[in-house]
Amino acid sequence: MIKVSHLTKKYGNITALSDVSFSVKRGEVVGFLGPNGAGKSTAMNIITGYLSSTSGNVTVDGHDILEEPTEAKKRIGYLPEVPPLYPDMTVNEYLDFIYELKGAKQKKDAHFNEICELTKIAAVRGRLIKNLSKGYRQRVGIAQALVGNPPVLILDEPTVGLDPKQIVETRTLVKKLGEDHTVILSSHILSEVQAVCDRIIVLNNGKLIADSKSDQLGQHLGGRAVTLRAVGSDSEIKALLNGLKCVRRFEKNEAASKGSVQEFTVQLDASEQAREEIFFAFAGKKTPIVELKTAEYSLEDIFMSLVSKA
Ligand code: ADP
Ligand code: MG
Repeated sequence: MIKVSHLTKKYGNITALSDVSFSVKRGEVVGFLGPNGAGKSTAMNIITGYLSSTSGNVTVDGHDILEEPTEAKKRIGYLPEVPPLYPDMTVNEYLDFIYELKGAKQKKDAHFNEICELTKIAAVRGRLIKNLSKGYRQRVGIAQALVGNPPVLILDEPTVGLDPKQIVETRTLVKKLGEDHTVILSSHILSEVQAVCDRIIVLNNGKLIADSKSDQLGQHLGGRAVTLRAVGSDSEIKALLNGLKCVRRFEKNEAASKGSVQEFTVQLDASEQAREEIFFAFAGKKTPIVELKTAEYSLEDIFMSLVSKA
Protein backbone atom coordinates (compact mmCIF):
# COMPACT_ATOMS: atom_id res chain seq x y z
CA MET A 1 0.00 0.00 0.00
CA ILE A 2 2.87 2.33 0.83
CA LYS A 3 6.31 1.95 -0.68
CA VAL A 4 9.14 4.12 0.54
CA SER A 5 12.37 3.79 -1.45
CA HIS A 6 15.74 5.22 -0.50
CA LEU A 7 14.43 8.40 1.10
CA THR A 8 17.05 10.95 1.98
CA LYS A 9 16.29 14.43 3.25
CA LYS A 10 18.85 17.10 3.94
CA TYR A 11 18.25 20.45 5.56
CA GLY A 12 21.40 22.31 4.64
CA ASN A 13 24.07 20.18 6.20
CA ILE A 14 21.71 18.34 8.56
CA THR A 15 20.73 14.91 7.24
CA ALA A 16 17.27 14.33 8.68
CA LEU A 17 16.72 11.07 6.77
CA SER A 18 19.34 8.83 5.30
CA ASP A 19 18.43 6.17 2.70
CA VAL A 20 15.27 4.94 4.40
CA SER A 21 13.32 2.17 2.64
CA PHE A 22 10.35 0.09 3.75
CA SER A 23 6.90 -0.85 2.61
CA VAL A 24 3.60 -1.21 4.37
CA LYS A 25 0.98 -3.74 3.34
CA ARG A 26 -2.70 -3.00 3.19
CA GLY A 27 -4.21 -3.29 6.65
CA GLU A 28 -0.94 -3.18 8.57
CA VAL A 29 -0.54 -0.96 11.62
CA VAL A 30 3.06 0.16 11.73
CA GLY A 31 4.79 2.13 14.46
CA PHE A 32 7.55 4.61 13.77
CA LEU A 33 9.61 4.56 16.91
CA GLY A 34 12.49 6.87 17.64
CA PRO A 35 13.72 9.57 19.99
CA ASN A 36 13.12 13.25 19.27
CA GLY A 37 14.99 14.34 16.18
CA ALA A 38 15.10 10.81 14.72
CA GLY A 39 13.37 11.92 11.52
CA LYS A 40 9.83 10.61 12.13
CA SER A 41 8.00 13.82 11.27
CA THR A 42 10.25 14.44 8.29
CA ALA A 43 9.46 10.97 6.93
CA MET A 44 5.73 11.45 7.49
CA ASN A 45 5.76 14.86 5.82
CA ILE A 46 7.43 13.34 2.78
CA ILE A 47 5.12 10.30 2.65
CA THR A 48 2.09 12.58 2.75
CA GLY A 49 3.47 14.94 0.12
CA TYR A 50 3.89 17.97 2.38
CA LEU A 51 7.64 18.04 1.96
CA SER A 52 9.83 16.97 -0.91
CA SER A 53 12.70 14.60 -0.41
CA THR A 54 16.28 15.28 -1.42
CA SER A 55 16.28 11.88 -3.10
CA GLY A 56 14.21 8.71 -3.12
CA ASN A 57 10.51 8.30 -3.71
CA VAL A 58 7.19 7.27 -2.20
CA THR A 59 4.20 5.57 -3.76
CA VAL A 60 0.78 5.17 -2.20
CA ASP A 61 -1.32 2.41 -3.72
CA GLY A 62 0.93 2.60 -6.77
CA HIS A 63 0.70 6.39 -7.17
CA ASP A 64 3.89 8.40 -6.84
CA ILE A 65 3.35 11.17 -4.30
CA LEU A 66 5.11 13.75 -6.49
CA GLU A 67 4.04 12.60 -9.94
CA GLU A 68 0.40 11.93 -9.08
CA PRO A 69 -0.12 13.94 -5.91
CA THR A 70 -3.90 14.15 -6.22
CA GLU A 71 -4.37 10.40 -6.59
CA ALA A 72 -1.86 9.63 -3.84
CA LYS A 73 -3.10 12.23 -1.35
CA LYS A 74 -6.72 11.19 -1.79
CA ARG A 75 -5.80 7.89 -0.17
CA ILE A 76 -4.17 9.42 2.90
CA GLY A 77 -5.55 10.97 6.05
CA TYR A 78 -2.84 12.83 7.90
CA LEU A 79 -2.60 14.03 11.46
CA PRO A 80 0.55 16.17 11.47
CA GLU A 81 2.55 16.85 14.63
CA VAL A 82 0.80 20.22 14.91
CA PRO A 83 -2.68 19.76 13.42
CA PRO A 84 -3.72 22.74 11.26
CA LEU A 85 -6.79 23.64 13.27
CA TYR A 86 -8.54 26.96 12.83
CA PRO A 87 -9.28 28.27 16.31
CA ASP A 88 -12.12 30.57 15.25
CA MET A 89 -14.10 27.87 13.48
CA THR A 90 -16.56 25.57 15.17
CA VAL A 91 -15.84 21.87 14.79
CA ASN A 92 -18.65 21.59 12.22
CA GLU A 93 -17.34 24.51 10.19
CA TYR A 94 -13.86 23.07 10.28
CA LEU A 95 -14.96 19.63 9.09
CA ASP A 96 -16.95 21.34 6.34
CA PHE A 97 -13.87 23.25 5.31
CA ILE A 98 -11.77 20.07 5.16
CA TYR A 99 -14.53 18.28 3.24
CA GLU A 100 -14.45 20.97 0.56
CA LEU A 101 -10.68 21.10 0.55
CA LYS A 102 -10.39 17.36 -0.02
CA GLY A 103 -13.25 17.36 -2.51
CA ALA A 104 -14.83 14.52 -0.57
CA LYS A 105 -17.82 12.83 -2.16
CA GLN A 106 -19.49 11.09 0.76
CA LYS A 107 -22.96 12.11 1.90
CA LYS A 108 -21.90 14.83 4.27
CA ASP A 109 -24.36 14.46 7.15
CA ALA A 110 -24.03 10.72 7.49
CA HIS A 111 -20.27 10.89 6.94
CA PHE A 112 -19.72 13.55 9.62
CA ASN A 113 -22.01 11.75 12.05
CA GLU A 114 -19.99 8.61 11.62
CA ILE A 115 -16.64 10.35 12.05
CA CYS A 116 -17.77 12.35 15.06
CA GLU A 117 -19.23 9.25 16.66
CA LEU A 118 -16.01 7.32 16.16
CA THR A 119 -13.76 10.08 17.49
CA LYS A 120 -16.26 10.95 20.26
CA ILE A 121 -16.57 14.61 19.39
CA ALA A 122 -20.32 14.64 18.70
CA ALA A 123 -20.99 16.68 21.85
CA VAL A 124 -18.66 19.53 20.87
CA ARG A 125 -19.51 19.95 17.20
CA GLY A 126 -21.00 23.41 17.74
CA ARG A 127 -18.10 24.68 19.88
CA LEU A 128 -15.27 26.93 18.73
CA ILE A 129 -12.03 24.98 18.36
CA LYS A 130 -10.12 27.49 20.50
CA ASN A 131 -12.39 26.63 23.43
CA LEU A 132 -11.68 22.90 23.27
CA SER A 133 -9.31 21.03 25.56
CA LYS A 134 -6.10 19.58 24.13
CA GLY A 135 -7.66 16.11 24.13
CA TYR A 136 -10.68 17.22 22.14
CA ARG A 137 -8.52 19.19 19.73
CA GLN A 138 -6.44 16.12 19.07
CA ARG A 139 -9.62 14.15 18.34
CA VAL A 140 -10.77 16.86 15.96
CA GLY A 141 -7.36 16.48 14.29
CA ILE A 142 -8.00 12.75 13.90
CA ALA A 143 -11.55 13.46 12.67
CA GLN A 144 -10.24 15.73 9.90
CA ALA A 145 -7.87 12.95 8.84
CA LEU A 146 -10.89 10.65 8.46
CA VAL A 147 -12.83 13.03 6.19
CA GLY A 148 -13.22 11.41 2.77
CA ASN A 149 -12.63 7.90 4.18
CA PRO A 150 -8.99 7.51 3.13
CA PRO A 151 -7.71 3.93 3.45
CA VAL A 152 -4.35 5.08 4.84
CA LEU A 153 -3.88 7.03 8.07
CA ILE A 154 -0.62 8.69 9.04
CA LEU A 155 -0.63 9.87 12.63
CA ASP A 156 2.31 11.84 13.98
CA GLU A 157 2.63 11.40 17.76
CA PRO A 158 -1.12 11.37 18.33
CA THR A 159 -0.84 11.11 22.11
CA VAL A 160 1.73 13.83 22.81
CA GLY A 161 0.55 16.32 25.41
CA LEU A 162 -2.47 14.27 26.45
CA ASP A 163 -3.28 13.20 29.98
CA PRO A 164 -3.20 9.47 30.85
CA LYS A 165 -6.92 8.96 30.36
CA GLN A 166 -6.85 10.68 26.97
CA ILE A 167 -3.80 8.62 26.00
CA VAL A 168 -5.70 5.40 26.67
CA GLU A 169 -8.72 6.70 24.73
CA THR A 170 -6.57 7.71 21.78
CA ARG A 171 -4.80 4.33 21.72
CA THR A 172 -8.15 2.58 21.77
CA LEU A 173 -9.33 4.75 18.90
CA VAL A 174 -6.18 4.07 16.85
CA LYS A 175 -6.57 0.33 17.45
CA LYS A 176 -10.14 0.51 16.23
CA LEU A 177 -9.13 2.53 13.18
CA GLY A 178 -6.43 -0.07 12.52
CA GLU A 179 -9.12 -2.70 11.98
CA ASP A 180 -10.04 -1.20 8.62
CA HIS A 181 -7.18 1.15 7.74
CA THR A 182 -3.52 0.95 6.92
CA VAL A 183 -1.89 2.99 9.67
CA ILE A 184 1.52 4.50 10.34
CA LEU A 185 1.79 5.97 13.79
CA SER A 186 4.83 7.67 15.25
CA SER A 187 5.90 7.79 18.84
CA HIS A 188 9.01 8.17 20.95
CA ILE A 189 7.52 5.77 23.50
CA LEU A 190 8.21 2.09 23.02
CA SER A 191 5.27 0.84 25.09
CA GLU A 192 2.93 2.92 23.00
CA VAL A 193 3.90 1.40 19.68
CA GLN A 194 3.99 -2.04 21.29
CA ALA A 195 0.45 -1.55 22.54
CA VAL A 196 -0.96 -0.45 19.22
CA CYS A 197 1.18 -1.70 16.33
CA ASP A 198 1.77 -5.05 14.59
CA ARG A 199 5.11 -3.97 13.36
CA ILE A 200 7.76 -1.52 14.55
CA ILE A 201 10.20 0.49 12.50
CA VAL A 202 12.92 2.08 14.60
CA LEU A 203 14.46 5.31 13.37
CA ASN A 204 17.49 6.90 14.93
CA ASN A 205 19.52 9.80 13.57
CA GLY A 206 17.65 9.58 10.28
CA LYS A 207 18.48 5.91 9.78
CA LEU A 208 16.22 2.90 9.85
CA ILE A 209 17.84 0.68 12.48
CA ALA A 210 15.18 -2.00 12.90
CA ASP A 211 12.04 -3.22 11.18
CA SER A 212 10.26 -6.19 12.68
CA LYS A 213 7.07 -7.58 14.14
CA SER A 214 6.41 -5.98 17.52
CA ASP A 215 6.87 -9.21 19.45
CA GLN A 216 10.12 -10.05 17.68
CA LEU A 217 11.82 -6.69 18.04
CA GLY A 218 14.06 -7.87 20.88
CA GLN A 219 15.28 -10.90 18.95
CA HIS A 220 15.61 -8.94 15.76
CA LEU A 221 17.87 -6.39 17.36
CA GLY A 222 20.13 -9.23 18.45
CA GLY A 223 20.52 -7.96 21.95
CA ARG A 224 21.46 -10.19 24.85
CA ALA A 225 22.44 -9.37 28.35
CA VAL A 226 24.01 -11.17 31.26
CA THR A 227 24.19 -10.46 34.93
CA LEU A 228 27.77 -10.83 36.02
CA ARG A 229 28.99 -11.09 39.62
CA ALA A 230 32.72 -11.01 40.16
CA VAL A 231 35.16 -10.51 43.01
CA GLY A 232 37.38 -7.51 42.46
CA SER A 233 37.54 -3.77 42.53
CA ASP A 234 35.20 -1.59 40.61
CA SER A 235 37.94 -0.23 38.40
CA GLU A 236 39.44 -3.68 37.63
CA ILE A 237 36.10 -5.05 36.51
CA LYS A 238 35.22 -1.98 34.46
CA ALA A 239 38.61 -2.09 32.76
CA LEU A 240 38.09 -5.77 31.90
CA LEU A 241 34.63 -5.16 30.46
CA ASN A 242 35.81 -2.12 28.53
CA GLY A 243 38.50 -4.24 26.94
CA LEU A 244 36.12 -6.85 25.53
CA LYS A 245 34.88 -6.57 21.97
CA CYS A 246 31.70 -8.55 22.66
CA VAL A 247 30.56 -6.06 25.32
CA ARG A 248 28.26 -3.39 24.01
CA ARG A 249 27.46 -1.62 27.22
CA PHE A 250 27.45 -2.31 30.93
CA GLU A 251 26.05 -0.89 34.07
CA LYS A 252 26.85 -1.54 37.71
CA ASN A 253 24.01 -2.74 39.89
CA GLU A 254 24.90 -0.77 42.98
CA ALA A 255 22.18 -2.25 45.15
CA ALA A 256 23.30 -5.81 44.42
CA SER A 257 27.04 -5.16 44.94
CA LYS A 258 28.36 -5.87 48.42
CA GLY A 259 31.90 -5.79 49.76
CA SER A 260 34.29 -7.11 47.14
CA VAL A 261 31.53 -8.77 45.08
CA GLN A 262 30.36 -6.46 42.32
CA GLU A 263 27.35 -7.01 40.12
CA PHE A 264 27.00 -5.67 36.59
CA THR A 265 24.42 -5.99 33.86
CA VAL A 266 26.36 -6.46 30.65
CA GLN A 267 24.90 -6.12 27.18
CA LEU A 268 26.56 -8.35 24.63
CA ASP A 269 26.69 -8.47 20.89
CA ALA A 270 25.38 -11.55 19.09
CA SER A 271 28.70 -13.42 18.96
CA GLU A 272 28.60 -17.07 20.06
CA GLN A 273 31.74 -16.91 22.15
CA ALA A 274 30.82 -13.87 24.23
CA ARG A 275 30.52 -15.79 27.51
CA GLU A 276 33.79 -17.65 27.03
CA GLU A 277 35.56 -14.42 26.18
CA ILE A 278 34.36 -12.87 29.39
CA PHE A 279 35.29 -15.94 31.40
CA PHE A 280 38.86 -16.15 30.08
CA ALA A 281 39.46 -12.41 30.30
CA PHE A 282 38.43 -12.38 33.95
CA ALA A 283 40.34 -15.60 34.75
CA GLY A 284 43.45 -14.18 33.10
CA LYS A 285 43.40 -11.20 35.45
CA LYS A 286 42.61 -13.43 38.46
CA THR A 287 39.27 -11.72 38.90
CA PRO A 288 36.95 -14.61 39.74
CA ILE A 289 33.47 -14.66 38.31
CA VAL A 290 31.12 -16.06 40.94
CA GLU A 291 27.99 -15.87 38.82
CA LEU A 292 27.17 -15.33 35.15
CA LYS A 293 23.57 -15.67 34.09
CA THR A 294 21.18 -14.45 31.41
CA ALA A 295 19.61 -11.19 32.49
CA GLU A 296 15.98 -10.31 32.23
CA TYR A 297 16.11 -7.87 29.48
CA SER A 298 13.28 -5.59 28.54
CA LEU A 299 12.60 -4.21 25.12
CA GLU A 300 12.94 -0.79 26.70
CA ASP A 301 16.57 -1.63 27.54
CA ILE A 302 17.26 -2.76 24.00
CA PHE A 303 15.71 0.37 22.59
CA MET A 304 17.69 2.59 24.92
CA SER A 305 20.93 0.82 24.14
CA LEU A 306 20.29 1.17 20.43
CA VAL A 307 19.45 4.81 20.45
CA SER A 308 22.25 5.72 22.84
CA LYS A 309 24.85 3.86 20.80
CA ALA A 310 24.66 6.10 17.76
P1 ADP B 1 11.27 13.60 14.91
O1 ADP B 1 9.90 13.86 14.36
O2 ADP B 1 11.65 12.17 14.92
O3 ADP B 1 11.44 14.23 16.26
P2 ADP B 1 12.16 15.42 12.83
O4 ADP B 1 11.80 14.76 11.55
O5 ADP B 1 11.28 16.50 13.31
O6 ADP B 1 12.35 14.30 13.95
O7 ADP B 1 13.63 16.00 12.72
C1 ADP B 1 14.73 15.27 12.20
C2 ADP B 1 15.95 16.17 12.15
O8 ADP B 1 15.78 17.18 11.18
C3 ADP B 1 16.25 16.89 13.45
O9 ADP B 1 17.64 16.94 13.59
C4 ADP B 1 15.67 18.25 13.22
O10 ADP B 1 16.35 19.21 14.00
C5 ADP B 1 15.91 18.47 11.74
N1 ADP B 1 14.89 19.34 11.13
C6 ADP B 1 13.57 19.11 11.06
N2 ADP B 1 12.93 20.08 10.39
C7 ADP B 1 13.88 20.97 10.02
C8 ADP B 1 13.87 22.21 9.27
N3 ADP B 1 12.75 22.71 8.77
N4 ADP B 1 15.06 22.81 9.09
C9 ADP B 1 16.21 22.30 9.57
N5 ADP B 1 16.29 21.15 10.27
C10 ADP B 1 15.16 20.49 10.49
MG1 MG C 1 8.29 14.68 15.23
